[in-house]
Amino acid sequence: MQPPSETGPGGPVRSVTLLGATGSIGSSTIDLLRRDRSRYRVEAVTAHRNGAALAQLARELGARFAAVADLRAYDELKAGLSGSGIEAGAGPAALVEAADRPAEWVMAAITGAASLAPTLAAAERGATVALANKECLVCAGALFMRRAAAAGATVLPVDSEHNAIFQALSAGRREEVRRIVLTASGGPFRTFSREQMRKVTLEQALKHPIWSMGPKITIDSATLMNKGLELIEARHLFAVRPEELDVVVHPQSVVHGLVEFRDGSVIAQLGSPDMRIPIAHCLAFPERMATPAQRLDLARISTLTFEEPDPERFPALSIARHALVAGGGAPTVLNAANEVAVAEFVAGRLGFAGIPALVEATLDAVERNGEMVEPQSVDQAVAVDHNARRQASHLLPEIAAMAS
Ligand code: NAD
Ligand code: MG
Repeated sequence: MQPPSETGPGGPVRSVTLLGATGSIGSSTIDLLRRDRSRYRVEAVTAHRNGAALAQLARELGARFAAVADLRAYDELKAGLSGSGIEAGAGPAALVEAADRPAEWVMAAITGAASLAPTLAAAERGATVALANKECLVCAGALFMRRAAAAGATVLPVDSEHNAIFQALSAGRREEVRRIVLTASGGPFRTFSREQMRKVTLEQALKHPIWSMGPKITIDSATLMNKGLELIEARHLFAVRPEELDVVVHPQSVVHGLVEFRDGSVIAQLGSPDMRIPIAHCLAFPERMATPAQRLDLARISTLTFEEPDPERFPALSIARHALVAGGGAPTVLNAANEVAVAEFVAGRLGFAGIPALVEATLDAVERNGEMVEPQSVDQAVAVDHNARRQASHLLPEIAAMAS
């Protein structure tokens, strides 16, 4: 990563843009920025549709540009920014503009495949991209990493497991790595029986035992689809083969990821389960900054446990692994179908068991129709994604009835 190119009265200043500034990751990032305002200048901030909240953040952070994805939120944003001199934008092109504007460091924390175009825009101009969003790598990972490398962008993983692995990888050479292990908390239903799992409610699924996160990733953590998406994310970030990737359930979420080297050494990163730690690692990279995160007290925690994930109760993980191994367009379809399934579960139109069932049925249908093509361009990725979403919506009534 390039050193900061701007200087202020107190020394070097890093210019930053926050895509998804109003979310959980966005808020944790802002919490770190607030602690040392003199070292950062905020170029742009974006949100989905909460124009008033975004305007307030943009004012507080002194951003130059603020954009909402939803055109209907433009008036609210504009009104909130009135008299501030901060420019306002709305719609997909405005999100890309936010990413395109000259900030050295871009936090990519928009949920879902909607993040692809703006995150790619930041990478293609060679920015340092702190990548929290995983769906864009699942949707178009090969394309994203190829374009980022061609532009000389630095991609830093924010996702806690990938950040841990990124740190652990520095202990050896790439060809010396034997295995990469992602830990999973197991989510709120880790100890539920199959019978109990059939009846889980949205409220239960939204109650993660360890992490406080946005609703989409919280539901993904309950199905373990999150870990499946993360396998695909790891494949692209670290250019590893599917068989080199493993998952272990670790309910305390203290060990975030491990790298096994060929001499048998296993290097892990540990820390309190607080996203400000991996975010800070990316924000200060290649240096280290202080964070308010609770310090790790192993004697107080006393026990760390590990177990195999249960494929019977959590079929999403195996479905995602199949898509990982199949490659091509399968991960794109998996991600799109999962976004539909989670939205339908949240809306109360699909039961919890229906989430993996709908994803699997969509993958089968797209494959049967001969539409499983690997996207070579953003337009193709969007086309494969949209087609999968249509298929999933078409299959929804049947799957919802079966899985209820
Ligand atoms: P969140 O729901 O709290 O926030 C999402 C942000 O993106 C908000 O600012 C929202 O306004 C914006 N957004 C949502 N949909 C959008 C759309 N269609 N177009 C434009 N903007 C949109 O989510 P989060 O928990 O902060 O997660 C963000 C991303 O980071 C996800 O991809 C998630 O998988 C990843 N991630 C989150 C965590 C975590 O601890 N929260 C950990 C690892 C990875
Ligand atoms: Mg994670």
